Amino acid sequence: MKNTGRKLILTAVAAVILSSCKSAADPVGSAVSLSGMDRINSGLEENITTDLTTTYEVFLYSYYDSDNDDIGDLRGLKEKLDYIQDTGFTAIWLMPVMTSPTYHKYDVADYYSIDPQYGTIDDFKDLISDCSERGIRIILDLVLNHTSVQHPWFAAAADYLKTHDDYDDCAASCPYFNAYHFSREFQNGYAALGDSGWYYEARFWEGMPDLNLDDEEVREEILSIMKYWLELGVGGFRLDAVTSYYTGDPEKNTAFLKWLCESGKAMRSDCYFVGEAWTNRSEIAALYDSGIDSLFDFPFADANGIIHDTLMGAYGAEDYVQAQVSEQEAYILHNPDYLNAPFYTNHDMARSAGYYAGDDGTKTKLAGAMNLLMSGNVFVYYGEEAGMKGSGKDENKRAPMYWSDTAQTGICTGPPDMDTIAMKFAPLDEQMKDPYSVYSYYRNAIKLRNAFPSLAFGTVSLRDDLSDEEIAVYTKSDGIHPEVCIVMNLGGQSETVDVSTLKQQTLAGVLLAGEEEISLQEGKLTVPPYGIAVLKE
Ligand code: CA
Repeated sequence: MKNTGRKLILTAVAAVILSSCKSAADPVGSAVSLSGMDRINSGLEENITTDLTTTYEVFLYSYYDSDNDDIGDLRGLKEKLDYIQDTGFTAIWLMPVMTSPTYHKYDVADYYSIDPQYGTIDDFKDLISDCSERGIRIILDLVLNHTSVQHPWFAAAADYLKTHDDYDDCAASCPYFNAYHFSREFQNGYAALGDSGWYYEARFWEGMPDLNLDDEEVREEILSIMKYWLELGVGGFRLDAVTSYYTGDPEKNTAFLKWLCESGKAMRSDCYFVGEAWTNRSEIAALYDSGIDSLFDFPFADANGIIHDTLMGAYGAEDYVQAQVSEQEAYILHNPDYLNAPFYTNHDMARSAGYYAGDDGTKTKLAGAMNLLMSGNVFVYYGEEAGMKGSGKDENKRAPMYWSDTAQTGICTGPPDMDTIAMKFAPLDEQMKDPYSVYSYYRNAIKLRNAFPSLAFGTVSLRDDLSDEEIAVYTKSDGIHPEVCIVMNLGGQSETVDVSTLKQQTLAGVLLAGEEEISLQEGKLTVPPYGIAVLKE
């Protein structure tokens, strides 16, 4: 942890941005336009207690290209660390970087190398070193449910099986036979091994044979893979598809996760694990029995999640808060030290700017805040901070980061077969100059989150006496830092709340979707439509 260095760099970057905007945008000398939101939030200082506060999910392929082959890479990401840090991210989830035959690389052929499209191990070491100096943690995507068919283990087994058909003979003599699930009969979730008469488990796709996670040799290899990357300096792992480890067997999934997390933490005590269990609250809660740090908070995410449904009017403002209360009660029962992993979208979901037809940006912003004001290690998928679009086939959800509309090096072409995507909001370089852009809003939301540990991690309590369908008033306390209060107006009308019974009566920060400002006078807080106030003692 290098908090001091981080703070200094942030201040320096902010100063450069402010001064350069002033001279470039306005030669006459009057101040560059700051929104009311910027003015109120200008005094906020980063006060993070852990680098697991606000994590950026990056798909390297589409992020930033350093060598003009139009594919993003590790060096490109390194060039963008100033941007990432200035936006307020404290950690990066790197989607798979290991050698793989596909563009998305969720089928690994070699767990000990960087895919040549992305660079080299030396590039990775450089990235880790730069991130470490900035206090940014790298969380590596680790795909353990399956390998690629090109993984040498599967390739060797397949070679052997193509010329042998006796099960017992193969079980005894075929290399890596027990590393996968081979069968002479077709079963649900299995794929045919050519015309050999053999089948293998491949739940997602025939190119992704499922590993047999009970096999000793597989387990030893997993330990060796984790050790390799931890020694290179990664700070943890995002675990792909944990409910598929043992399909349909939650207890075995929990037991495997427990073994995995305990093994990783024995190698590096602060090794962080976040698991992808794309399922409901009760199944996620049960998986916390494993002791895993975090599981992604799927119930709040996506186009049918609680954030979206609240903004579409299916739930009231107080229901959105009550859902957080119920969830924290459910999770804490299974792991008192759990760290929720809220997110709004990821690489498997349509981008959120397309969720609200006719939206002028207000709902896109507000939804971003409803994610970023949740407790835990909050994740943001690259491009969401600029309201990018992309839906339909997976490639469209992984479109090139929309840095600029002007031709320049570094911009990627995106996955093969991606459709042309019409963006809704301006490119990032324009948004960075606009105090009312989606980006400026996200940056303020992250700044607010990173300024108050109770806001980032606190236990939620609803003030139901002050809340209703439109207004949510709730407090958050982490038990160490001062409690904060959030007043969120999810309605289309300005609302006045009597805050005189709250301990928190000082405006600490605001998130405003438009130009209408917030006022706090004599215990009366007036919040414009879709406005949010954070109050402190
Ligand atoms: Ca490249």
